[in-house]
Amino acid sequence: MTSILRELESSVLERLRPITKDEARALVELPASDLPALLALAHEVRRRWWGEGVELESLISAKTGGCPEDCAFCSQSIHYDAPAQRHAFLPLADVLAAARATEASGATHFCIVVAVRGPDRRLMSQVLRAVEGIRAETSLEVDCSLGILDRAQAEALRDAGVHRYNHNLETSRSFFREIVSTHSWEERVETCRLVREVGMGLCSGGILGMGETWEQRLEFAFELRELEPDEVPLNFLNPRPGTPLADRRPLKPSEALRAIAIFRLIFPDRIIRYAGGRELVMRDLQALGLVGGVNGMIVGNYLTTVGQPVAEDMRMLEDLGMPVRVPER
Ligand code: SF4
Repeated sequence: MTSILRELESSVLERLRPITKDEARALVELPASDLPALLALAHEVRRRWWGEGVELESLISAKTGGCPEDCAFCSQSIHYDAPAQRHAFLPLADVLAAARATEASGATHFCIVVAVRGPDRRLMSQVLRAVEGIRAETSLEVDCSLGILDRAQAEALRDAGVHRYNHNLETSRSFFREIVSTHSWEERVETCRLVREVGMGLCSGGILGMGETWEQRLEFAFELRELEPDEVPLNFLNPRPGTPLADRRPLKPSEALRAIAIFRLIFPDRIIRYAGGRELVMRDLQALGLVGGVNGMIVGNYLTTVGQPVAEDMRMLEDLGMPVRVPER
């Protein structure tokens, strides 16, 4: 085993401290033969903080397509000729039915996602009604992802009982301008800060494999850490036809696994959630992420792509001996 791993084993595990950027750089350089040892260390850190439980969340794309932003990975942008569904905010009954199905599947979190730059007055009232209905009818924690917020909107969501607000940084500050031009990385940071200021939980992560370097990946992770997210969703680019990233090759599973383990060591006490692209990128190695640092999963379908059936995820967790983590209330 390489010396950096031996050093981290004693210092990170004994004191449960996050690794430094230099340590993360050393882990990027580890030979492939040390990947199993890196995953084992990340898993042990996760077990000491969290035990074996895995938090499951399901998403609903409540308003799909027609987004004025130009995120290069996204088939919901009006800037690209990408085949994607398009619909206005779903009827309340459909949102409630999806929430009930989520609860029946065994997941404990339900996230309402809309494709907009930020919500207008009408959308806010539709979302608030949905949050109220879901909380009345289920025991799910309700999360939202509605884009850029102002303070009054953040406070209204908090007052409605929204548990966590998702707003991904997506990538590092230095790479962001190659991916999005219609809003700035700083605007994303501002919304993340606002979410924390008003007292909602913050869910913020991004997408790996968009062409960023490892150094930019680490830059992203350490920038994210300054925002102290409760949860870090890790998506892996699933190149969508018609988008500027359509021809990019998906990450190799070994690179994704290395990234998962390094993120776990940077965020020892947070939820690292498997998100979009895991089926495409990890293929038969999905379970390795769960013994390499992951302790949360999005189950069911993603926003523009289809995930594997929830029953398969449940069977994978059962085979690993990992229970679904039930939130403390
Ligand atoms: S990622 Fe979100 S903000 Fe960006 S184009 Fe897609 S729906 Fe719009």
